[in-house]
Amino acid sequence: MIEWFKRLFGIGTNSLNADKLMVNIILFGPPGSGKGTQAAKLVEKYGFLHISTGDLFRYEMGNDTPLGLEAKSFIEKGELVPDSITIGMLKNKVEANPDVKGYIFDGFPRTIDQSKALDELMAGLGQSINLLIALSVDDEEIISRILQRGKTSGRADDNDESIIRNRINVYNENTRQVYDYYDAKKVSQSVDGLGGIEDIFARLTSVIDQV
Ligand code: ADP
Repeated sequence: MIEWFKRLFGIGTNSLNADKLMVNIILFGPPGSGKGTQAAKLVEKYGFLHISTGDLFRYEMGNDTPLGLEAKSFIEKGELVPDSITIGMLKNKVEANPDVKGYIFDGFPRTIDQSKALDELMAGLGQSINLLIALSVDDEEIISRILQRGKTSGRADDNDESIIRNRINVYNENTRQVYDYYDAKKVSQSVDGLGGIEDIFARLTSVIDQV
């Protein structure tokens, strides 16, 4: 009875989303593992909102905003942008788009504190992370893919092998444990990130379709 009353009046949760069937996915993996490419295809198939913190930072940098200028000094070294900046930016993007079928987070969370902030944000919407899918790709493949992408991406952080290696180190030191954090919540899964784009996409959709 109390639960029914709470739900009727939206107490304790955001009444807009609390009972809405959404699927919220973290697309996880090292830099250059194909998250952006696969996220675009998943959006086409499922109609989720794709939120890439890397894309949001590049937008801010392209417009020379104060946030963009601050982020740039970290991105060009292959370091993480501090959580205080990143979490606020992500939160704004989510809160500006509450009425969606689900979110695909790409490049976020990259630290445990970001993971906790994301869980809180989702809980405030009456939602949670339903699935984290990690694309597994070995380091040498990552480096060759990113250098290849650098020829056309115009990204300074894609053109220098020492910056790419630093991004991989940062992933191993700060980000890898996000997988375990969500594994403890029984939502982490890993798929092979090697092979053709369509093959990898088929692996991802078969995992998502089970949720
Ligand atoms: P990739 O996955 O190829 O490294 P992204 O576009 O996801 O590329 O990220 C580019 C850069 O933006 C990262 O190296 C980092 O400096 C910064 N960045 C992106 N997302 C985050 C995040 N969640 N936390 C901190 N820094 C981030």
